[in-house]
This record gives sequence, C-alpha cells and structure tokens, in this order.
Amino acid sequence: RGTTPVPPDVRPRLTVLSGPSGVGKSTVVAHMRKEHPEVWLSVSATTRKPRPGEKHGVHYFFVTDDEMDKLIANGELLEWAEFAGNRYGTPRAAVQERLEAGEPVLLEIDLQGARLVRESMPEAQLVFLAPPSWEELVRRLTGRGTEPPEVIERRLEAAKIELAAEPEFDTTLVNTSVEDVARELLALTNVV
Ligand code: 5GP
Repeated sequence: RGTTPVPPDVRPRLTVLSGPSGVGKSTVVAHMRKEHPEVWLSVSATTRKPRPGEKHGVHYFFVTDDEMDKLIANGELLEWAEFAGNRYGTPRAAVQERLEAGEPVLLEIDLQGARLVRESMPEAQLVFLAPPSWEELVRRLTGRGTEPPEVIERRLEAAKIELAAEPEFDTTLVNTSVEDVARELLALTNVV
C-alpha cells in the first residue's frame, strides 16, 4: 500500500471487553476466535486455581501469590485487580508489542481493570457485555457448577456493582446470542 495513510477508522486499536462475571465474556471471545484466530487476545496472569480443562499459557498464566507480587512490583502488568478473592492482571509487554506491530489487541478483563486501562490508555475502546436480564445472569452464575456457594455469592455481589457501570462504557453488547455478539465484537475490534 506504499505510503498511503491508514484511515483512522481501520487503525488497529485496543479493545477492552468487560462485564459481570458469568455474563459470557469468555464464551463470546472463544467463539469469535474459533472463526477468527487472527484476533489476538491477551493472556492474563492470575492467582486463581485452574478450572478443569484450563491450560497454563492458554487460558491464563496461573501464578503463585509471590509471583504475582513480583509482576506487580516490577511494573510488568498493564493493569491488575483483585476479583472474588484472587488477583488478575494483564502482562504489559505482549500487549505493547502487538500494538506497536500495528495489530489489534483484545483484553477480556473485569470492570476495575477496564477503568484502569481507560485511565492509562484513553484511546482504548471499552465494550460492555450485558446479560439479557438479571435472572439470566443469576442462572448462569449458579449453573456453572464449578464453584462453591460462597464463591458464587461473592460473584453475584460483584455483578450487581458491575451492572451499574454500563454507562461508563463506549458500547454495550447484550448477550442474547453468542453468534451475534461475537460478530459485533469482531466488527468493533476493526480487523480489516
Ligand atoms: P474468572 O475467574 O471467571 O476466569 O475471571 C473472573 C473475572 O476476572 C472476569 O470478570 C474476568 O474478565 C476477569 N479477568 C480476567 N483476566 C483479567 C485481568 O488480566 N485483569 C482484570 N482486571 N480482570 C481480569
């Protein structure tokens, strides 16, 4: 394309997908990446224990509390937050490399993290994934069956607070159909 400037609307950018726990963020992202593996998703570090089927380096980098302390102290995380008793953070270097290479970047993080990204990178696009209804969210969180009741209770508490944050976001997608939302998210990440 020679020296033709890239129009601003197709410039690669940082997209942050956030929303309450259990709303289906990771399902939507997984669906989108199955069809569009070229969309790069940041792999977070977490102190949470792996759920069955989760792989180190694929779903998360599973780290100890000490390792997380070091990542934070060394400034290696773009953002981090404590969520339902565990810490989660976005490794900074990989994200920067992609953006500098001109590739779009997608983060799937909690609300606190989304706010931190907004502060440090105001050009980031914040996308809120909303449940079709509160009842549906409760059903999904309860039905996951992988967490003890007290953990589900904490996640529901967090979800109530998170739902109120919707107006802070640039765009809201309502998770009625995984296929539709995945398509909308793909369009928003501006892959050309
Ligand atoms: P889960 O334990 O269900 O995998 O994730 C719990 C919450 O942590 C989800 O809302 C998820 O989006 C969020 N999360 C995952 N990785 C990160 C991260 O790197 N930073 C932040 N702030 N939240 C994250």
